[in-house]
Formats: sequence, C-alpha cells, structure tokens
Amino acid sequence: VIDIKHLNKSFGSHEVLRDVNFTVNKGEVVCLIGSSGSGKSTLLRCINLLETPSGGEIIYNGENILDDKHDIKQYRTHLGMVFQQFNLFNNHNVLKNCIVGQQKVLKRSKEEAKTNALKYLQIVGMDQYINAKPRQLSGGQKQRVAIARALAMDPEVMLFDEPTSALDPEMVGEVLKVMRQLADEGHTMLIVTHEMEFAREVSDRVVFMDKGVIVEEGSPEQVLVNPKQERTKEFLKRTL
Ligand code: ATP
Ligand code: MG
Repeated sequence: VIDIKHLNKSFGSHEVLRDVNFTVNKGEVVCLIGSSGSGKSTLLRCINLLETPSGGEIIYNGENILDDKHDIKQYRTHLGMVFQQFNLFNNHNVLKNCIVGQQKVLKRSKEEAKTNALKYLQIVGMDQYINAKPRQLSGGQKQRVAIARALAMDPEVMLFDEPTSALDPEMVGEVLKVMRQLADEGHTMLIVTHEMEFAREVSDRVVFMDKGVIVEEGSPEQVLVNPKQERTKEFLKRTL
C-alpha cells in the first residue's frame, strides 16, 4: 500500500531521516521501534505529510504522492492517525468527536456518520460513553475514542505514534487490547511503539531505526529475538 523510497528529511543542517526505504503491505502490521530522537515520529509525520520530506518518494497505491500534481487532501483521507496525546475536540462529546470528520471531510450525512461512529465506538468498547465530554474520561478511554474516531473515517492505513506512552500503566493494557483486535481483523497498521512485548506478538514485521537510518528489519523473531546488528542488540538490552 505504502512504499517509501530513499526518503530524506532535514531540519536545517540536521539530517533526521537518511535514505529510508520500507514498505507497508495491505493487511500488514508493521511496528517501528528505536530510541528517542531516532526519527520515528518524523517518519510518520512525513508519511501523512504533516512534514514535507526533503527528498525521496512516498508511493501510495502506485503513485508518488510527493508529485506536485497529487491531491494531498484526498491522500490524507486514506490514513488514520492516532497520536500520543489524544487530540480530541474537548468541546464535543464522544459521539460528535467521531462524527465531525466524516461529515466535513467525507461529506457523509449525519445519519450515516452516526451509524459508522457507533460501530467503531462499540468495537473499542466506548459506546456507553457517547454523551461524555473528553474531560470526563480516563486517558485510556480517551485514546480508545481517538482510535474509534480514526477508524470511523474508514482509512486504508492506520498510523499510530506511541499511542500508549502518555497513559498511566494500568490503562496501557486496554488500549493495546483494542489494537491487537484491529490487527487480528486485518487492518493495515504502522505502529511506533516502545511496547516490545506487544510488538513481538502483533507485528508481521518489525523495523528498527537508529539516528535516522533503518538498521534492521524483519519478522519479530528476527529483529527482537535474534537481532543481527550490534545496534539493535544494544537497544534491546537497554529496553528490557
Ligand atoms: P521519541 O521516541 O522521543 O518520540 P522519535 O524517534 O520520534 O523520538 P523524532 O521526534 O522524529 O524522534 O525526532 C528526530 C529528531 O528530529 C530529533 O533530533 C528532533 O530534535 C528533530 N526534530 C523533530 N522535529 C523537528 C522540528 N520540527 N524542527 C527541528 N528538529 C526537529
Ligand atoms: Mg516520537
């Protein structure tokens, strides 16, 4: 679905991504791991064009979306993004949070948007809270609403940037459980995470990044259990 080729990103003279190449295939769950500052968030932000890459190609279903002629707004509707900070609309209740994007961006009717929102709120176990405002919810509940909101847009690929790292430990599990379920249902997902146990269980592929470069990628077994590269081994030693 997404094919990243020779992607570079610099901020001034600081090269944050260097010749990054990798692919996310349909139905695949890819976990992106690496230490702080290695460029994981920047890579996700380049993929959804919140940052403009300095060079390289992002091929989405065969087309380079960095071509001038490409419709970026249209492309973005195919990506669902879940951030560390939930970024819910605080003045809207749970249901409305999951409806507005569908109406504004996808031009769905209110009824259709509501039906779809309820479907995903049920999947994440938040359908009992449709009238609650975000401030009345726990962190884990907010993040589950944020996931439902992204899913309600029926994206082709879900991007997650450390969705559990702002949560209290007792709430991490409920969010990972939802993500595990999505993975089992065959959603295409690219997940930045520090949860190694989770990465090992759900990924089809693990990508390890260090200092803006992909050092190693492969099956969870290959990368997390029997890494070949010294840098991967060191990283894993530090995180265990
Ligand atoms: P973490 O695990 O802490 O989230 P990360 O792997 O997501 O780290 P990035 O946030 O992608 O790392 O940052 C990679 C590097 O790019 C860092 O050195 C950071 O300071 C730099 N950087 C990120 N965004 C910007 C920006 N907007 N302007 C300048 N430098 C930036
Ligand atoms: Mg980050």
